[in-house]
Amino acid sequence: RLPTIGVLLLLTIGLIGFAMTLVRREAAFASARADFIARVSHELRTPLAQIRLFAETLRHKRFSADADQQRSLEIIDREARRLSHLVDNILEFSKSERGRVDLHAVTLDLAALTEDAVASYAPPPSVNIEALTEATVPVDADPDALRQVVLNLLDNAVKYGPQQQTVRVSVDRNEHKARLSVEDEGPGIPAHERDRIFVPYYRMRREENENTTGTGIGLAVVKELVNRHNGVVSVEPRDSGGTRFVVEMPLSDTP
Ligand code: ADP
Repeated sequence: RLPTIGVLLLLTIGLIGFAMTLVRREAAFASARADFIARVSHELRTPLAQIRLFAETLRHKRFSADADQQRSLEIIDREARRLSHLVDNILEFSKSERGRVDLHAVTLDLAALTEDAVASYAPPPSVNIEALTEATVPVDADPDALRQVVLNLLDNAVKYGPQQQTVRVSVDRNEHKARLSVEDEGPGIPAHERDRIFVPYYRMRREENENTTGTGIGLAVVKELVNRHNGVVSVEPRDSGGTRFVVEMPLSDTP
C-alpha cells in the first residue's frame, strides 16, 4: 500500500502546486487589468482636457493673433485624432481578446497605404517624419488593420523618442516579402525586453520612472494584426541608437 499512498501524495502535491500557479496567474492578470483601466482613464483624460481648454480659448476669443487661433485648432485636431486612435486600439484589443477579429482583405499597395497613414498623422511640430517608400508593394490585407499597425508604431516612435527627432518610415520588398520599418532616435529597447513588450498590458518599468503614459496594448494589437496577415513583427536596435520595428508579410501574388 505504501507505494500507492506515496504516488497519491505526490499527485496531490502536484495538483495543489498547479492550482496555486493558476490562482497566482489569475491574480496577476486581474491586477494587470485593473492597472489597464486606470491607464485608459488617464490616457482619455489628457486629450479631453486639452480639447476643452483650447475650445474654451476659442469660444471666448482669448487669443491675441490669428496664429494663436490656428495653433489652438491644430491642437484640438491632434488631440481628437489621438482620442480616436486610442478608442480604435481598445476596440481592436477587446475584439482580439474575444477572438472576434474579422478582417476584410483586399489587394492593396502597402507603400501608398503607409504614405497615407503618415500624412494623416499629426506629430508634434518638433518631430520630423520621413517616409521612404518603394513604388508599389502589393499585399493582401485589411486596410484599416494595416493603418492601425502603422499608426501604433509611429505613435510609439514619437512618444518614446526625444522631442526633436526624425522618425523614418520605409516600405520596400524583396522577391517574396513586403517590409515596413519604423525607426526612431529614442532610448532603444534592451535585448531581454524585446519579446515581452508585445505581451498585452506590458510596459517597461522605465516608462513609469520617465512618466511616459500608455495603456500597454499598442504592440499587442500590432502583433495580433500582423500575425493575422501571416506576417511577423520584430524589433532591433539601430546602429546610431534608437529602435527599429520591422513588419514583414507575404507579397500578394495577385497580378
Ligand atoms: P504603451 O506604449 O501604451 O505603453 P505598447 O504596447 O505600445 O504600450 O508598448 C509596450 C512597451 O514597449 C512600452 O511601454 C515601452 O516600454 C516599449 N516601447 C514600445 N515602443 C517603443 C519605442 N519605439 N522605443 C522605446 N520603447 C518602446
